[in-house]
Amino acid sequence: MSPLPLPALHATHAGIWIAGRGEDAREASRGEAIARAAETPHIILNAPLVGQRLGYPELSGLDLLELFAFIHPARFAVPTVPGMCRAVGIAPPESEADAAGALQAIAGVLLAVLEQSEWQEREGAWTSCQSLARMGWGWAPLVSGRIERPERGERMLFSRLKQWEEAADRPPPRTVLVDRSAARDRLRKLTGARSELRAGQAAMAEEATSVFAPRRQKDAPNMLLAEAGTGIGKTLAYLSPASLWSEASGGTVWVSTFTKALQRQLDAEGPRLFADPQERARRIVVRKGRENYLCLLNLEDALQGAFSGRAAILAQLVGRWAAYSKDGDIVGGDLPGWLPSLFRRAGATALTDRRGECVYAGCPHYRRCFIERAERAGREADIVIANHALVMINAARAREDAPQRIVFDEGHHLFDAADSTFGVTFGGQDAIEMRRWIVGPEGKSRGRRRGLAARLMDVASFDDEGAKALEAAIDAARALPSDGWLQRTIEGSPFGPVEALLGEVRGMIYARAKAQDAGYGLETELAEPDGALVAAAAKALEGLEALQKPLAALSRRLEAVLEDAPDWLDSQARARVDGAINGLAWRREVLSAWIALLGRIGGSADPEFVDWLAIERAEGREYDVAIHRRWLDPTKPLASAVLGPAQGVLVTSATLRGGDGSWARAEARTGAAHLDCTVDRFEADSPFDYASCSEVLIVTDVKPGDMPALSGAYARLIEAAGGGTLGLFTAIQRLKTVHSRIADHLARAGLPLLAQHVDPIDPGTLVDIFRDDPRTSLLGTDALRDGVDVPGESLRLVVVERVPWPRPTVLHAARRMSGGGSAYDGAVVRARLAQAFGRLIRREGDRGTFVILSAAMPSRLLSAFPAGVPIRRVPLDEAIAHVAAAATVSPLIQPETVECERSTF
Ligand code: SF4
Repeated sequence: MSPLPLPALHATHAGIWIAGRGEDAREASRGEAIARAAETPHIILNAPLVGQRLGYPELSGLDLLELFAFIHPARFAVPTVPGMCRAVGIAPPESEADAAGALQAIAGVLLAVLEQSEWQEREGAWTSCQSLARMGWGWAPLVSGRIERPERGERMLFSRLKQWEEAADRPPPRTVLVDRSAARDRLRKLTGARSELRAGQAAMAEEATSVFAPRRQKDAPNMLLAEAGTGIGKTLAYLSPASLWSEASGGTVWVSTFTKALQRQLDAEGPRLFADPQERARRIVVRKGRENYLCLLNLEDALQGAFSGRAAILAQLVGRWAAYSKDGDIVGGDLPGWLPSLFRRAGATALTDRRGECVYAGCPHYRRCFIERAERAGREADIVIANHALVMINAARAREDAPQRIVFDEGHHLFDAADSTFGVTFGGQDAIEMRRWIVGPEGKSRGRRRGLAARLMDVASFDDEGAKALEAAIDAARALPSDGWLQRTIEGSPFGPVEALLGEVRGMIYARAKAQDAGYGLETELAEPDGALVAAAAKALEGLEALQKPLAALSRRLEAVLEDAPDWLDSQARARVDGAINGLAWRREVLSAWIALLGRIGGSADPEFVDWLAIERAEGREYDVAIHRRWLDPTKPLASAVLGPAQGVLVTSATLRGGDGSWARAEARTGAAHLDCTVDRFEADSPFDYASCSEVLIVTDVKPGDMPALSGAYARLIEAAGGGTLGLFTAIQRLKTVHSRIADHLARAGLPLLAQHVDPIDPGTLVDIFRDDPRTSLLGTDALRDGVDVPGESLRLVVVERVPWPRPTVLHAARRMSGGGSAYDGAVVRARLAQAFGRLIRREGDRGTFVILSAAMPSRLLSAFPAGVPIRRVPLDEAIAHVAAAATVSPLIQPETVECERSTF
């Protein structure tokens, strides 16, 4: 395939290269590259990233990623030049200098696909390209001439999507026992083991059968806490008895994870259970919160003009994807994670149902809706793969399909998941959303959002009582904040009781909070509030109660209308009423939680809760003011609402005991301590020989706060390792500083450095790029400490900049006080270090070094690391020698010999 005769531009931290029409690539200065790109559209790969490298954020051009998303929607590709080469089946370039030429070659191959008869994603492309051409999409002239016009008009996207089928309610699961030897046999089948099974894995499969036995006592599930060291193979260990139970009983097992990475891994195990893809799709279903899925009604709006400019192009590409997507999951599913970030703020989030705008059965796409389809498929499935938050919400709302047999994997995160699920926030942003849902668009707002009155106009004209309740609800909702609330609050000219309360909250925070860098939020405890705040809270409370009453009355009237339906209530109108009842139920629940929260202000403190006030800020600008409430111990509602009502629960993790071997901690953090029953325990050590494949080095001579020294240490360690380094930070600002000081230097040595919070790429894609290239390194914060699964050569060094102490927030202070002071902090740090160390050795044959750049690392916390791992306190030079020696063991890696001086950074 001949390269496309269009200029191409490639820019990294190592330099800038331009390939002209039919010319070899050559290096260019930043100024020349910007001038040429502004003059003629160049082929580029990831415009925001290239723009950032050039210091020219407005850069636009012919982005290969957009072309790939159009031609191969719902297909995975690593968004780098080598990654795209592999995706289209050509050899990756041998050097950065060859990359610009490779961009032209990739474009040539991709465009040639359009003319091939075997192109699988042809349907819909012609129509979509016509719309994209009208929007001025750069690729449209090159694409449209190559796509043959279909003989007959193409079917609309929405009619091409499959409809879900309504099914009868599933009977309750039969009472069955899962035999321990059957679980072993199933495990043998799933692992394909011809000889002896691995002892720890087999023991766990047998032990986990207890979770599926009939429950002995009300509110007391069969509960097993299982700490299974990394490499045990715990996934197949619990899937063995789980799959046997669901087959024999006809029930569903919910497997819940905290990270999307594990959800994807679990989904990938599906073929072991069901080889036939259709059967697999029926029996294993991934379910997420509704905000993860594409809302077809929002997409239709966007395609019909609600989006303009670049956002409209994104909507077209998402429309292409929707037709080929497995499940419509727009956040962590088969929509490439890099696609939304190409469109900067022109958000894909507006295409989801984030604001609870769903009209349910009143929606014209209801029978094709991805969310509804996933919910129904989940009811019929043997195994539902979900996340902790969704499992908790479904259980807490006591839905008919509340999970009864649950496996919580990544169980060390149950505490955090319960903390946010059972917490309450009452802030300006939430309150304005509530107002908009009830009142509808006001002032200049556009879009399809309609208030309750517009949705229920026909019911109101028929039912007097309903009409009165509706009118009263709309009146009362006007007490909630409206557009411009934050500005009015800041200026001290609030409108209505809730804005007045938020003004008092803001004032109290500024009076009491410790001064912070403007990049961070501000907060203060909700204790001993001023009289003015108490009075404002009482007025706001009256306002919320005045809203609650008519909403409850309206719900009752709507239910009555459905029960005693008038003649004119056709299926469409019925569906709309049904949708309104669902929406009302959710709002009333939120309103009750706010009322409870405000009702406490000025009263005596409830020791079960921690309440505080906060101003959210980003880059120095305020964007919300709120009152927060969290359970001091969120595992209490977890135990009463989720664990207690379940029949069987398995909680598992490699670090369930937080790195210090304490079962008491495991029970306290999982809610087991609040159950009135015996909780079984299981443990199996990791099969890895950590003593010979890993070591921990505590560097003693990098002074705290010395940024040049910290940056130099990172650079030298990454060079010694030849890349493959995960650098973990506890503060975003330090991460940014280190990255800015060392990225160019490392790139020139052929060692790319990526960074969360710096590169305009989502964290999932950053990890994909990191995994794909053993010479790339990645800097990040908490999310990377917990969710990175990169086995093999790509991750061989973890560098932690300092001891990961918890941030001193109001919530932390309260938990610290009730949890044993410094012992509580120690447990948090041990758990974090155990998690971070867990990134290093993922499978047999992995080797790695864990470096802590802080001499202040307390010895008492070193029990976080697996027994037997050598731990040394050494100066930086010695640490570098260790890392270089470990790197030479690997045939793939040749560490750099470039010596970099500390002063360089
Ligand atoms: S049913 Fe709701 S979520 Fe689904 S497409 Fe319609 S409005 Fe969107």
